[in-house]
Amino acid sequence: MTEPLNEAVAKGGVRIQELRAATPMLREAGARADRLIRLEKHLREHEADYAAALAADLGKSATEAWSTEIGFIIGQSRYARRHLREWMRPRRVPLPAVARPGRGRVVPTPLGVVCVIAPWNYPLHLALAPVVTAIAAGNSVVVKPSELAPRTAELIESNLPGVLGVENCAVVSGGAEVTSALLQERFDHIFYTGGGRVGRIVMEAAAKHLTPVTLELGGRSPAIVCADADLAVAARRIVWGKFVNAGQTCVAPDHVVVEREVADRLVSLMTAEIRSSFGEDAALSADYGRIINTHHVDRLDGLIRSSEAREVVGGIVDRDRRFVSPTLLIEPGPSTDVLADEIFGPILPVLPVDDLDETLRQMASGPTPLALYAFTGSDERARRILDTVPSGGAVINHTLLHLAVHELPFGGMGESGHGAYHGQAGFDRLSHLRSILQRPTRPDPKLAYPPYGRVAQRLLRRLTA
Ligand code: NAD
Repeated sequence: MTEPLNEAVAKGGVRIQELRAATPMLREAGARADRLIRLEKHLREHEADYAAALAADLGKSATEAWSTEIGFIIGQSRYARRHLREWMRPRRVPLPAVARPGRGRVVPTPLGVVCVIAPWNYPLHLALAPVVTAIAAGNSVVVKPSELAPRTAELIESNLPGVLGVENCAVVSGGAEVTSALLQERFDHIFYTGGGRVGRIVMEAAAKHLTPVTLELGGRSPAIVCADADLAVAARRIVWGKFVNAGQTCVAPDHVVVEREVADRLVSLMTAEIRSSFGEDAALSADYGRIINTHHVDRLDGLIRSSEAREVVGGIVDRDRRFVSPTLLIEPGPSTDVLADEIFGPILPVLPVDDLDETLRQMASGPTPLALYAFTGSDERARRILDTVPSGGAVINHTLLHLAVHELPFGGMGESGHGAYHGQAGFDRLSHLRSILQRPTRPDPKLAYPPYGRVAQRLLRRLTA
């Protein structure tokens, strides 16, 4: 029996029940690996098409398109393929005396159909990384790319089902209405990446069917610079992490908290670093991206104008070209919008503080960020920062790079989401870890069953606690 999706979604020709019924096709590691190889091959062969789409949607350079999107997915897929058999293998567990003799194991099994809802900022990466994970775990997928990156969405829609097999993959395109319609359907897992507002809508819709969700959200990820840090390296790595993809990165350092005694020096090093990375006019740099649309250009422009900053470095906005220059806002007003929500653009507030420990304590009581970056020459200081301020992930003396380490689970906590993926954490997230206990039929002493005599009582008390 087929189960058509409701009208808006049925346009995409998706049949969730059919996709669910086709998951046994992915039971064997070989079948999963085969789909992943096809995806890698497709991305390699069509690299230029994807790079052109990413350039049109976000002004991404070919280098960034490769390293943060196309090449990233190929690398992730290869890693998954190489470890697939090891991840799929039943995991033996030791048995307590009460369950012996026997065999206990945890067997990862597919969930069924995973719905992937992707945002626009890394429109290929964030649509396909959950897909690679879902296929590695033996699931079928329904993918909803972001309508705000239309060129990339179009390529995903026209290619992915053919590459992964229409039996195991469907793509539905559209905006909020289509996503709402999609969310009325019953999936076996919903993997959502985007903002917290829609995250709440997703979770509410999922509750109707008791569908588990992974929410990869955002938040105000701080970069904390201590006076004992290597300031030149901190400046270079913060500027790199902030201005890649013109600041539209979920784990970009949102703002810098710096010990006051080194604040001026850090600002001048970051200013020099911006110039050396993107030249006098970043609009002419091949390595500097564009803002996704004019709505976001206007939003960012408003944040700069209303910031009450003591000093502004950059701050140039060209609405028609969707350009916002790399911008530092030195000491913005404490109650201004730029310090209220995640910036998600190339604006970096710099906040000098007199008492870093006190600031850390205040940060700890705010929403949990997706990432935390600490720059310090002291392991002890780094440990204190990590102990005080919770975050989804953290990097000491760099930014963003934890994403590139396959075996570091990537995900948030609290306001920045829940559930992590990448590497085996992702495989486990999109699997059901099924517990299986197998016992021989002999021995089967009557002593273990009622009516319990005194000996049985004594024995059971000893065996169970
Ligand atoms: P968004 O929430 O606007 O959109 C994401 C998806 O939700 C899109 O596919 C969109 O079609 C859908 N959507 C939008 N409105 C909807 C509605 N009313 N009902 C149902 N679906 C709807 O997010 P965004 O602006 O695309 O992304 C920005 C946010 O995402 C930032 O907060 C950023 O930090 C976060 N983000 C997180 C990660 C991560 O990996 N944790 C990665 C990228 C972005």
